Amino acid sequence: MFETVIGLEVHVQLNTKTKIFCSCPTSFGHEPNTNTCPTCLALPGALPVLNKEAVKKAISFGVAVESKINQNSIFARKNYFYPDLPKAYQISQFEIPIVEGGFLILDMEDGSHKRVGITRAHLEEDAGKNMHADGESRVDLNRACTPLLEIVSEPDMRNSNEAIAYLKKLHAIVRYLGISDANMQEGSFRCDANVSIRPKGDEKLYTRVEIKNLNSFKFIQKAIEYEVARQVEAWQDGVYERDVYQETRLFDTNKGETRSMRGKEESADYRYFPDPDLLPVYIDEELREEASKIPELPDEKKIRLVDEYKIKEYDAGVITSSLEMAHFFEDMLKEGISGKNGVTWLTVELLGRLKGGVTIEQSPVNAQKLGHLVKRIEDDTISGKGAKELLDYLIENDEDVDSVIEKLGLKQVSDDGAILEAIDAILASNQEKVLEYRGGKEKLFGFFVGQVMKNNKGVNPAMVNDLLKKRLG
Ligand code: ADP
Ligand code: MG
Ligand code: ZN
Repeated sequence: MFETVIGLEVHVQLNTKTKIFCSCPTSFGHEPNTNTCPTCLALPGALPVLNKEAVKKAISFGVAVESKINQNSIFARKNYFYPDLPKAYQISQFEIPIVEGGFLILDMEDGSHKRVGITRAHLEEDAGKNMHADGESRVDLNRACTPLLEIVSEPDMRNSNEAIAYLKKLHAIVRYLGISDANMQEGSFRCDANVSIRPKGDEKLYTRVEIKNLNSFKFIQKAIEYEVARQVEAWQDGVYERDVYQETRLFDTNKGETRSMRGKEESADYRYFPDPDLLPVYIDEELREEASKIPELPDEKKIRLVDEYKIKEYDAGVITSSLEMAHFFEDMLKEGISGKNGVTWLTVELLGRLKGGVTIEQSPVNAQKLGHLVKRIEDDTISGKGAKELLDYLIENDEDVDSVIEKLGLKQVSDDGAILEAIDAILASNQEKVLEYRGGKEKLFGFFVGQVMKNNKGVNPAMVNDLLKKRLG
């Protein structure tokens, strides 16, 4: 029996206005090589100047995951050659990173929790992009020198589900902190997965393989699972020593398998040394304090939602897993509805109707409207069934809740007198059945309810039940 060991390295692009060592804008999607200057083009003599905002965002992250913030940290040159790296070195942090230690608590599907250690988080610059098309390769340096926070985990995860839970938690935290867009498609939240196996019970770490090119949660999970199976098979076939060695592998999304990209460099290969162009970073009390003022994080929000709105912990977990959902929920609740109904109408009814990758932010029905719809169920204006019809309509039509209730004739009759009248009419025309019921055939009750509902569209079923019981004695 084997155990899987996973450690993750995540590159988060910090959403500063300007790059980390120059004042070029960081915005995405511009003409190639327009957001550049002598510094990020690596022209001779140009000097880097550290962006204070990037430092501040890194500190906020460290505070959020309870790390040690190093008052002094050092930028180093990581030397390697690649066409998208014009200086032939990347400015990164090596010996003393800005953030050290810390942890995340994962919420697993089965309700259990798991602690994953954070080894470190350091600041560095991104490289440019190589673009290959029509048999030509070109380099776009717009992204060169944009600030990254590389967050390195301990090898604490034991299966791909834990790896995904870790990434989702980390993603939520950086989004809550507002330090990154963390958009996986645009590459502002990128993950490398380090994977190894070992016989169960063994404490030592075996050879790891690093997998790159993982740009969606689904691919990360698939890549890890493929890689674990490959290593286990090699072990069982007696070729582990031959086939599993420290290397970088790429995940091929079409074939669903990992394949060798290059041998893994050791840190010595990078010939790290302190960058003589940059002073050591010194974080004074003022900056530290300012960066420590962080917003409510997912776990705190979860506890508060359970407490304030009396919803289940599981539901609160689903809602707080994304900042957009959490905002949507709290905006809905401003309509004065119950937490339980808020959860159902958001997570079941609305999410169930958003098709084709439409996110909650793009929902055609906003929080205020959905809250208002729920309000109309709670004040007995419409039935639950009517509300579903109403929501279907609102998804397609941007109209006002109350006027659509009128227009579709969804208003239910909740007036005692009118319902009693309807009940009496049904009882009068079914006198035989009334006698049978009174004689003990109690299952006829459902028949009476059905008749009243059928002939009186829009009556409130709960009231029909109550009043029928009274009438039938
Ligand atoms: P590098 O920067 O060269 O990739 P690090 O020592 O910083 O190497 O480790 C990178 C990641 O690999 C960390 O997240 C760490 O937890 C993980 N890791 C280290 N050893 C193993 C192993 N045997 N199995 C799985 N993950 C590992
Ligand atoms: Mg690495
Ligand atoms: Zn620049």
